Amino acid sequence: MQKNINHMDGFELHPFWSEFRDKKTEKEFLQHYLERGQHQLRIALVFCSLFYLAFIFTDIAALGYTRNALTLVIARLLVAITAVAAIYMIYLRPQSVCAPPLAATITEIVGMGTFIFIVIYRPHEMPWHAMAMSIMLIVVYLFIPNRLVYALGVALSSTLIFIFVSYKLGDIRTADLMRMSLLFVLTNLFGAMAIRRYHRLWRDEFRTQSLLKRQTVRDHLTGCYNRRYLYDDVLEKELSRAQRHGYWLTVILCDLDHFKSVNDTYGHQAGDDVLCFFSSLLQSNTREHVDYVIRYGGEEFLLLLPDTDLSGAELLAERLRVELTKNTTIHNTAQSIKLTASFGVASINFATERKQISQHELIAAADELLYKAKNSGRNLVMSGEI
Ligand code: GH3
Ligand code: MG
Ligand code: MG
Repeated sequence: MQKNINHMDGFELHPFWSEFRDKKTEKEFLQHYLERGQHQLRIALVFCSLFYLAFIFTDIAALGYTRNALTLVIARLLVAITAVAAIYMIYLRPQSVCAPPLAATITEIVGMGTFIFIVIYRPHEMPWHAMAMSIMLIVVYLFIPNRLVYALGVALSSTLIFIFVSYKLGDIRTADLMRMSLLFVLTNLFGAMAIRRYHRLWRDEFRTQSLLKRQTVRDHLTGCYNRRYLYDDVLEKELSRAQRHGYWLTVILCDLDHFKSVNDTYGHQAGDDVLCFFSSLLQSNTREHVDYVIRYGGEEFLLLLPDTDLSGAELLAERLRVELTKNTTIHNTAQSIKLTASFGVASINFATERKQISQHELIAAADELLYKAKNSGRNLVMSGEI
């Protein structure tokens, strides 16, 4: 089970879009960089709006103080207003990973649409418009943080519309039109390749960080979480969460009986296989992403079970105890090894009263019950409410 973790699991990238194929990993990635992405997007939108507004002067210079110039000023203001609304949208939904790309795409569509509108009003300056269009394409691909698929959609469709408008309204020779179109193909191609590379690098960094983190929180032999993870990340968090929401929290400490004699009789390798087998049994009987299975010591494991009451935890411990005695053949060695374990189950109920308990008191209670089970003859479950 967890022992054979494939380190690339969940981290494969889509070959073209350069996003993680696994939706969960992609979401984790987006959440990890959410604040950084929001910050970059805010800066990009403010800059783009300012530049859009700055070019009001060129409209007036080209068209004079006319009704048409006023229309274009209003159109440019619309882009700035959209950008402000997009920034507000991100502010309103700070935890949403969908809001930033949505805000970016809406602003890009309004920006590109407005630009085409300006081109239609000022059709005699096509070379300048084409230059501006190239810069805007680079901005869409590289400066405004967005998903590759959205950036590509906005850039390609606005390029096609621009070429069409140039062909219809611009006083432009066929050869120049073809040259311009070819340059746009290159701009789009290089833009898309560069953003793809950027997405890949960003995700490579995330993958490296995640794998390193995974190694520091997992036990190498069994793949279970290690004790450091319990004390640094989990216990305090789960304890205060149970207190806050008023639900049960249970700790089960379990220890293989006479494990030393397994090593002595069958060898250390067989002992390792037994540990992996026992950890697999614990993993398969607990809830994924809810319960924590921790290798607490050599042959001692700790189960942390949020929202689990005493009777539920007793049932689980009893089931594990019986299952272990039933399985006498350890797969990797094909040797028949009789195994038993002792269990200490300590539960605390925060639903009825606001109890104060420290992490160490909680573990100590389970440890005491485990000690009792050992002293009462082993292969036993001892339980109690704190
Ligand atoms: P009890 O029923 O009282 O728990 O007796 P026990 O023999 O299980 O407990 P004891 O603490 O005397 O021995 C634990 C043994 O576990 C000793 C140690 O060599 C072995 N052990 C600890 N870690 C590992 C490991 O990673 N692999 C193997 N094969 N053995 C281990
Ligand atoms: Mg033991
Ligand atoms: Mg022990």
